Amino acid sequence: MDQVDCVVIGAGVVGLAVARALALQGREVMVLEAADAIGTGTSSRNSEVIHAGIYYAEGSLKARLCVQGKALLYAYCAERGIGFSRCGKLLVATSDAQVAQLHVMMTKAAANGVHDLVLLTRAQARALEPQLECVAAVHSPSTGIVDSHALMLALQGDLENAGGLVVLNSALAHAQFAQDAIVLMAKDGTELQARSVVNAAGLQAQALASRFAGLAAEFVPPSHYAKGSYFTLAGRSPFNRLIYPVPEAAGLGVHLTLDLGGQAKFGPDVQWVDSPDDLVVDPARGDAFYAAVRQYWPALQDGTLIPGYAGIRPKIQGPGEPARDFLIQGPAVHGVPGLVNLFGIESPGLTSALAIGEYVRRLLP
Ligand SMILES: Cc1cc2nc3c(=O)[nH]c(=O)nc-3n(C[C@H](O)[C@H](O)[C@H](O)COP(=O)(O)OP(=O)(O)OC[C@H]3O[C@@H](n4cnc5c(N)ncnc54)[C@H](O)[C@@H]3O)c2cc1C
Repeated sequence: MDQVDCVVIGAGVVGLAVARALALQGREVMVLEAADAIGTGTSSRNSEVIHAGIYYAEGSLKARLCVQGKALLYAYCAERGIGFSRCGKLLVATSDAQVAQLHVMMTKAAANGVHDLVLLTRAQARALEPQLECVAAVHSPSTGIVDSHALMLALQGDLENAGGLVVLNSALAHAQFAQDAIVLMAKDGTELQARSVVNAAGLQAQALASRFAGLAAEFVPPSHYAKGSYFTLAGRSPFNRLIYPVPEAAGLGVHLTLDLGGQAKFGPDVQWVDSPDDLVVDPARGDAFYAAVRQYWPALQDGTLIPGYAGIRPKIQGPGEPARDFLIQGPAVHGVPGLVNLFGIESPGLTSALAIGEYVRRLLP
C-alpha cells in the first residue's frame, strides 16, 4: 500500500491553502479531489469578496481567521500577481430603524480589530455613490474583491513547488484509523496510508466524516444547505464600491458585488434546499431581487437582471437556528490522531483560507 505523510481531501480554496501550509513546512502532501479540476465546488460559486471582518461574533474563528486571512490574502495577491481590488464597500441603512444596526455592526467590527469603518450621512454616502438611496451608511475601506481562480492556481503552484501533489478524479470513499496510521480507500478501490488527514470536502465534509471508521458520531455535525442565487446586471454598474444592505438571519442580504472586469451582480439570496447539487437558478426568484435591490438603488430598470449562478452555503445549523462558527476539529477534540475535520466553512471561508491553512497546520505538529 502506498504511504504518504499528509492527505488533504478536497481541492477547493481551503483544502489548497491547508495543503500549501503543510507543504511549506516541509511535509509531504497529497490532495485528493473528486472532480476533474480544482475549485469546482463552492470556491467558484461565491461573491469573491475579501471581507473586512465586520459581522462575526467577537473571539469566534470566523472573526479571527477573517481578519488574519484578509491581511494575508492582500499581501499574497500583491506578491503573486493575483488580481484583486481594495474597492471598499458601503453597508447601507435604508430606514431609520436600520441605523441602529449600523452602530451594532461598527461595535462588532471594532471588537474584531476592524477599526477603519466610517459612519456616513446620506449626503456623504451619495457623494461617493450618487445613485445610492439610503438613510445612512458605513464605509469599509478594507473590503475588496479577488480573482478566486487565480488564487487557487497560485496555491496549487506553491504546493507543487514544495513537492506536493493534487490528484484529480480521486474521490475518497472512506477511512479507517489504526494506532499510528490512517488507511484511506478511494472510490476506485485504491488504498493509501497516511499519518495525517485533513477533511476539507466542503459540502461533503459531514457525509465523508460519517464514513470514517473510528470517529465517534458525536463529532459529525448535521448538514444543512442554504442556496444563494445571483442575478447579473445587464449594462454598466451604477456603483464603484460593493453595496450591502444590513445583514439577514442566514446571509448578508442581497448585495451588489463587482468582478475585476467591473461587471455587477446581485446576490446571494437565501433558499434552504435538500441537496448540495441543487445549483440551478430559478428565474422566478428575480422578482424578490428587484424589490430588495430597489431599496438601495431605486433606478434599477425592469428586465435588467439576468439569472446568473448559484452557490450553496455548507451550514451546520438549520433554518431559524442561531448562526454557528466554523467548526475545525483536531485530535485534541475528537481523539483521533492525525485527523482534522473542517465543517461549516461558509463565508468568510475564501477570505480566511490562508489563515485556516496556518490554523490547521498548527493542529498537526
Ligand atoms: C453563495 C456563497 C457566497 C460566498 N461568498 C463569499 C465571499 O464573498 N467571501 C468569502 O470569503 N467567502 C464566501 N463564501 C464562502 C466560500 O466560498 C467558502 O467558504 C469556500 O469556498 C469553501 O472552500 P472549501 O475548499 O472548504 O470548499 P469547496 O470549494 O466546496 O471544496 C471542497 C472540494 O472537496 C471536493 N470533495 C468533496 N468530497 C470529496 C471526496 N469524497 N473526495 C475527494 N474530494 C472531495 C469537492 O469536489 C470540492 O472540490 C461564499 C459561499 C457561498 C455559498
